[in-house]
Amino acid sequence: MSGWKSEQVIIVGGGIGGLAAALALSRAGIASQVIEQAAEFKEIGAGIQLGPNAFWMFERLDLVAPISALAVFPNNLIMRDSITGEEVTRIPLGDAFRKRFHQPYALIHRADLHRVLLETCRRSNLIKLDASEKVVKVEDADAGVTVTAESGKTYRGAALIGADGLWSTIRQIVVGDGKPKPAGHITYRAVLPTAEVPEEYRWNDMAFWAGEKVHLVLYPLRTGELYNLVAVFHSNRYEEGWDSYGDPAELHERFAQTCAPVRTLLNKIESWRMWVLCDRPPIKEWSKGRITLLGDAAHPMLQYLAQGACMSIEDAVCLADKAVAADGDYAAAFAAYQQARYLRTGRVQIMARVYGEFYHASSVAKELRNMMLGSRTPDDAMAGMEWLYGEQKELTRAAAPVA
Ligand SMILES: Cc1cc2nc3c(=O)[nH]c(=O)nc-3n(C[C@H](O)[C@H](O)[C@H](O)COP(=O)(O)OP(=O)(O)OC[C@H]3O[C@@H](n4cnc5c(N)ncnc54)[C@H](O)[C@@H]3O)c2cc1C
Repeated sequence: MSGWKSEQVIIVGGGIGGLAAALALSRAGIASQVIEQAAEFKEIGAGIQLGPNAFWMFERLDLVAPISALAVFPNNLIMRDSITGEEVTRIPLGDAFRKRFHQPYALIHRADLHRVLLETCRRSNLIKLDASEKVVKVEDADAGVTVTAESGKTYRGAALIGADGLWSTIRQIVVGDGKPKPAGHITYRAVLPTAEVPEEYRWNDMAFWAGEKVHLVLYPLRTGELYNLVAVFHSNRYEEGWDSYGDPAELHERFAQTCAPVRTLLNKIESWRMWVLCDRPPIKEWSKGRITLLGDAAHPMLQYLAQGACMSIEDAVCLADKAVAADGDYAAAFAAYQQARYLRTGRVQIMARVYGEFYHASSVAKELRNMMLGSRTPDDAMAGMEWLYGEQKELTRAAAPVA
């Protein structure tokens, strides 16, 4: 191993992005130390969609088999009108989709995705994992970075990756742009055992009903044992992004005008968890010397393109490639990494907002949406997704090994 690779990189945050970064570095032979503030490494109980672009990265990380074993591969992406219940558009995810993008579209329980990453990290002798340590201080000096946790414990590394999410502490050191911006949209998420989902809605599809300032998503998880429900509505009642057990009175009020299937499904849920959705405008620079950001810390986005986690996994692969290409000069590697990523992640941040507006349209905008989406062929729809799901050659080809 080259000398520089054995000097550990510190990764703050053990979510999907942080663990993917540790794995991508380990695949390049680079040691890392992941520091997570929570008492254990885990994800919340809800579903996540994985576009074909994530599967290109799983190929790079050698994770296709374990992820595929736990994922559901839906037949279609379907959008319905939440008032009339009528289908607006459908994109089949079968042969033509896989032929075009060379990879599948999948649905997975977050805990399962996180566990695959965690178990793979645990099997690597290049990755150290510490939970219950909240990073509060960072010093970049003497050819390395020292971080201090609330407990007083210190860690020393050759470089630092802030993968500490939407409320990133490391971002305040690198960028210093304050809190993220609440979108005025609230999300309630729940997971239902399939037995509790009326039989007529047990589709093997990623389906959603789009309405005026609301939408409801329904899709299967864990080989169809569970269904994931995500209800989104506009509300300015909450200012901070936090997750808690929600009071569903406002939820039912906001969905009062929706069609019977939507209300039937909402009524099945007894325990909802609530998120106040936030994002930030895209930025171009999220690195400072040997310190950089990754995932939501770098480019938090609304979930309307279902891409936040996918982008963090792409970041991880890109960052490891740039470290190898720069032969351990982390300042150069991080500058190259942000340069390679900012337009793509910025595009997803911006388009996620646009899609949010589109899904929640009313009046003429809604008619226009239904007309535009309804008149598309599956080929038109796939052509529109090429920029997002198509192969990113600079990410799918491993960096040339450094002599
Ligand atoms: C409703 C909703 C639906 C979504 N659906 C999808 C989807 O279908 N597909 C998709 O790709 N994405 C989706 N996303 C986005 C996705 O969840 C996030 O983009 C992704 O989880 C970000 O991962 P991350 O590792 O960057 O951050 P996080 O998952 O937030 O992880 C950050 C970690 O850092 C830790 N941490 C924070 N501060 C410190 C500190 N000071 N010291 C130590 N540890 C610290 C935290 O405890 C946490 O474990 C969705 C998001 C929402 C809200």
